[in-house]
Amino acid sequence: MELKSTKSRNEILSFLQKQNSPVTANLIFEKLMNKKITLSTIYRTLETFSKNGIVKKEIMQNGTAVYFLVPQEHLHILECKKCHNTIKLKYCPYDTANSKIKKETNFQVDEENVVIYGLCQNCNKKSN
Ligand SMILES: [Zn+2]
Ligand SMILES: [Zn+2]
Repeated sequence: MELKSTKSRNEILSFLQKQNSPVTANLIFEKLMNKKITLSTIYRTLETFSKNGIVKKEIMQNGTAVYFLVPQEHLHILECKKCHNTIKLKYCPYDTANSKIKKETNFQVDEENVVIYGLCQNCNKKSN
């Protein structure tokens, strides 16, 4: 279950990154139909993201909610698997890894996981 939700979050984020204008949850649902993400997961994810300032939610005149990514230069988010707190990362943790890959295999990475999962300081302390 954990795995599934982590995967859908990354799918939703990378979809939002490719959009030039705000989109509705329904549109995301339709476009990601083949990823089998439920509409309620999309809503829940968008709410979490907007609470954390990653996504901005706006209500249009007809009452429809639209969502768009808050512009950031290059975004990575650390999310705690236990308490679901998020931390925005100001640098790309893949930078060195990508150039190493390029050097060794000549493979150009152009898709990275935006959300990185683990345990936050608090939850890490508790489990020790
Ligand atoms: Zn935590
Ligand atoms: Zn990156």
